[in-house]
Amino acid sequence: MQSDGTASQIRIGVDMGGNDIKFGATGLDATELLLPKLVKRPSLAHDGPDQTIGQMLDGIGAVLTELGLSWPAVADVSVTVPCPCSPTGTIVEATNLGSPETKALWQVPFGEHLASALQKTAGREIPVFACNDANAAGQDDDFVRHGPASGERTSVFVTTGTGLGGCVLHNGSVFYGLGQAGELGHVKPAVPEPYAYRFADDTEAVCGCGARQCCETRCALNGLTRRIQWALSTSGQKTIGRDLDAQGQRIHPEVVARLTELCEEGPKRAAYEVRTFADRDGDAFCRWLLEDWAIMIGALFASISPILHPNQYIIGGGLTEMSGGAKDWFIGVVRRVYGEVNSQRCFESQMGNCEIVWSVSEDQGWRGAILMAMRRRGE
Ligand SMILES: [Zn+2]
Repeated sequence: MQSDGTASQIRIGVDMGGNDIKFGATGLDATELLLPKLVKRPSLAHDGPDQTIGQMLDGIGAVLTELGLSWPAVADVSVTVPCPCSPTGTIVEATNLGSPETKALWQVPFGEHLASALQKTAGREIPVFACNDANAAGQDDDFVRHGPASGERTSVFVTTGTGLGGCVLHNGSVFYGLGQAGELGHVKPAVPEPYAYRFADDTEAVCGCGARQCCETRCALNGLTRRIQWALSTSGQKTIGRDLDAQGQRIHPEVVARLTELCEEGPKRAAYEVRTFADRDGDAFCRWLLEDWAIMIGALFASISPILHPNQYIIGGGLTEMSGGAKDWFIGVVRRVYGEVNSQRCFESQMGNCEIVWSVSEDQGWRGAILMAMRRRGE
């Protein structure tokens, strides 16, 4: 209850992506999603934090208009960001925000700036919580799967995108360790021996974090962007062609021509289309490239099992948008490689024992942020 006697009715969740910011709202227990369609605004993160905060105020204002409410209705605002955050909800390092020109502008306590902008607009203090986007996505998946009850369970969640985000959930809450537990994209599992030849020419797998051999250099869009030029080269086509030949498949020259054309616009553009061709057309060359991801995710999960022995491994992110057939194919490779690497039967991937499944959260990281804030405050 606020000093003027009005009670807060809603929680606002904000998902800060690379291109746009998404806004959603829930009731106070976070179960009911109040908007039939999320409000979206362009991110403007490239311009700096002030412009981003402006977009956030504008987006939250639009949510309130849509719900026929005003600022006193807002209990709190929780924000996902593509950066490391502390368990208490502040951005530790704005690594992935801004352009090379505006990066320095982001060296500010963003959460505090947002809180003071909200206070100015709302005329009262509104609690702000910031969290890592992969943690929020994992938290929402756990909530959709198991509901609000904590219960005994451990799961490991990865989200595929520009990089490979990760999250460890224990008994329904994100496990932070000293703060940054679950940064699974930077685990360095060995490439399983039967697949080492795939990466024989790829010796420059340097991660955005500065280290070498992080698994996200081989199972995320950034890694594919690095590999696509090799794949389209004579040497790459020879390696891939030989593999496909053995499986009775072949490289379709028109796909290589199209990818080469896109590569001239920029390798990222070509890498982005690989999933489309692999999914929509079931193209063998593109599936071979995407198989790298499945192999390394399988190897990653296999290296985690002896440490955590979780109930479930969950794959979220962009790959969940693929069609049913492509998803079955992909997760089949992950399970196979997981089994090949982990020969100890107690870690076998089967129902109820290190099961490997797709995420059931429908891109609701914004709601995951609300849940993380609630758990942090003991609500
Ligand atoms: Zn790394």
